[in-house]
Amino acid sequence: MLLAETSRTPAPAAAPRPEDWRELASCRGVASSVFFSPDGERGHARARREANAQQICQDCPVLAQCRDHALDEDEPYGIWGGMTEADRRRHARRLRSGSRR
Ligand code: SF4
Repeated sequence: MLLAETSRTPAPAAAPRPEDWRELASCRGVASSVFFSPDGERGHARARREANAQQICQDCPVLAQCRDHALDEDEPYGIWGGMTEADRRRHARRLRSGSRR
């Protein structure tokens, strides 16, 4: 009887690979130009593009993984985990200065 009950038990899900978070990203299929600035982009155009990207990130189910990846790898370009390049530079400066704000 125990064997019969055991055989109905669903197989445990395979442990997710660490890189699997990318497969769940809300930005899959979105043009990379939404997340990465073209040469010479400035001012309102840049702010508008970054806001559009951050809007996509806002509800992304893997925002935390994406942001952690970008911070761990010191990603210099693009929007990652809802953070702009400037956001990540500020974050790194705060860490270097020992501030936790
Ligand atoms: S947080 Fe933003 S950049 Fe990161 S995977 Fe999600 S949608 Fe893409």
